[in-house]
Amino acid sequence: MTEVYFLGTGGWVATRERDNTSLLIHQNEKLVLVDCPGSVIQKIKKIDLNPDAIVSVVITHVHPDHIYGLPSLVHSLMLVEGTINLYGKEESIHFCQNLLDLFHLREEKIKCRINFIPLRSGEDFHLLPSLSGSCLDVPHHPSSLAFSFEFKDLNKRLLFSGDTPIHPAIFEEARDIDYLVHECSAPKRYFDLYPILYDIHTNAFDLGRLSQESGVKCLIPCHIFGDLEFSESEIEQELLENYKGRLVFLHDLEKIII
Ligand SMILES: [Zn+2]
Ligand SMILES: [Zn+2]
Repeated sequence: MTEVYFLGTGGWVATRERDNTSLLIHQNEKLVLVDCPGSVIQKIKKIDLNPDAIVSVVITHVHPDHIYGLPSLVHSLMLVEGTINLYGKEESIHFCQNLLDLFHLREEKIKCRINFIPLRSGEDFHLLPSLSGSCLDVPHHPSSLAFSFEFKDLNKRLLFSGDTPIHPAIFEEARDIDYLVHECSAPKRYFDLYPILYDIHTNAFDLGRLSQESGVKCLIPCHIFGDLEFSESEIEQELLENYKGRLVFLHDLEKIII
């Protein structure tokens, strides 16, 4: 069985209900973490899994809400013998190395070793015996990548956009895909109020329209902005104006079974 947990589903400001976005893939007692904001260890314990089972960390980009928990993660696992593969664009790799060095977390006494693996857009990589990944550039930040995960035994694919404005390459990659996990920061009217958002994030109306055009089978919105004057049902309704597939609106610590 393969499960994908949503450890967080919120935007750059955590709210009472939603923490910063990160995903956790659980397959055959191994864990792959996608992005590393805070309290990952506690969240993994809350869903009754063992953080020692993390074998890989995948980083979408180096904004604080996606990466600030990395030193704490390594510090928490410092007595756990083993190696964690960390994947990301070259810029992300250097940033993570510097971040860990600030806390002396790459010194010999740290038993949990990090193996840094830089990726280029279009590159495939191997995560678990029946899980592979590939990545593509997205225009949110110079370090940004979106990730496509292929669950080979199950013949299913899941694409995670990371933070991104509407980007045609994502929707080409997402054609007829089983799961699209895409950022959905706010309703369109909020983007019209602050047009700069169109350059860095995605609104619910555009996401619903393009997901429908791409034939996405299951759409999972995340990275929902918090503490602003819109409701989650407004986002949901806006997505459903055009999207006619299966919409799964998850909350923190909920999961899908692939
Ligand atoms: Zn973000
Ligand atoms: Zn960002």
